Amino acid sequence: MSFVKGLKCRECGREYEIDPIYVCEFCFGPLEVSYDYEGIKGALTREVIESRPKNLWRYKELLPVSGEPTNALHTGCTPLVKADKLAAHLGLDELYLKDDTVAHPTLSFKDRVVAVALAKAKEFGFDTVSCASTGNLAHSVSAHGAKDGFKRFIFIPASLEKTKIIASLAYEPNLIAVDGNYDEVNRLCSEVANKYKWAFVNINIRPFYAEGSKSQGYEIIEQLGWKAPDAVVVPCASGSLMTKIWKSFSEMKNVGLIDDMNTKVFSAQATGCSPIVTAIKAGIDVIKPVKPDTIAKSLAIGNPADGFYATQVINDSGGFGADVSDEEIVDAIKLMAKTEGVFAETAGGVTLASAMKLIKSGHIKKDDVTVLCITGNGLKTQEALVGKTVEPHYIKPNMKAFEETLDKIENR
Ligand SMILES: *Cc1c(COP(=O)(O)O)cnc(C)c1O
Ligand SMILES: [Zn+2]
Repeated sequence: MSFVKGLKCRECGREYEIDPIYVCEFCFGPLEVSYDYEGIKGALTREVIESRPKNLWRYKELLPVSGEPTNALHTGCTPLVKADKLAAHLGLDELYLKDDTVAHPTLSFKDRVVAVALAKAKEFGFDTVSCASTGNLAHSVSAHGAKDGFKRFIFIPASLEKTKIIASLAYEPNLIAVDGNYDEVNRLCSEVANKYKWAFVNINIRPFYAEGSKSQGYEIIEQLGWKAPDAVVVPCASGSLMTKIWKSFSEMKNVGLIDDMNTKVFSAQATGCSPIVTAIKAGIDVIKPVKPDTIAKSLAIGNPADGFYATQVINDSGGFGADVSDEEIVDAIKLMAKTEGVFAETAGGVTLASAMKLIKSGHIKKDDVTVLCITGNGLKTQEALVGKTVEPHYIKPNMKAFEETLDKIENR
């Protein structure tokens, strides 16, 4: 049984049936999935969720799928790491990393959104899936699409990290590397989507795709022992994940799975691409598009589709935003690795470095139970650390050489 009511325009409220559509015909506002929360209240209890397999479908009543999902059965339920050493370093009492660096199968949170998008593409009867990607989405659509038996057309900026391009090519999709930035790739894809009847996961399937992000929020609450955190720091590209984390927390309260929710939501961006944080700092909700220039390529969207709604979430929740330099990103990646043993990609560096600024500025307080959304794995953006790590100790294969080196390391 499905509790999905339909699609609803975020601007004028007009309602639509479930279809592969994404804009309102009347006001061009974006469409969002709406649910029968009263119905879910009776059906979805903590006990029901806890009794289910550890994947994102354990919250299926709150996701836009019909019937029993048959794809992505290993996606979701990533660890919530209690980060005591990092907390001490930052001066916080209680800090957690929501660790999607180990998301299945492609080591980023995009596996969640693609799981839902492809479930829906199958329901709608598409045989081809496609996307415009800053890297991780390409990887995830390539992988999930291979397993689920879709033809795949993947569009990326040609300037992406080599490791991410190779990661996608391993699954043999049709990879279209465009000479342009993400915003140009996205514009091209909108034209392609008008002509070819494909499931573009972040265009015509976007309302469903975006809902997949909510699973990260549900898991955070369940893993905190059915409690919402006081503060959550979310890296922003299009701003979708941030709005959906907030939606997921609000829904958990609406359907009675938690008693209260007073979470402040914070946006993390790279200074070289920070249209959302710039608007927040200026106290306005108008997003001024920028030309991205940052090592955090997965977040390099200069004209964020959900930027306006992201600023609303930040304001409604009493949160704020911070932006950080490439150098601060690299330092934060290394700090997370050496304190908590979690190797995040550049977006993770953005999130931690931004959190550090928000703690310093007093926006996040010492006793705020804080969660950082760590959304992708460092193995995918190793370029960012080339020449910026400690060096190996090169030695000849004998004991004398080793012990000389050991003496040097231990300063003997
Ligand atoms: C896509 C992505 C995000 C955020 O994307 P939104 O478009 O804001 O939802 C965050 N981190 C990583 C690693 C990503 O790939
Ligand atoms: Zn409308």
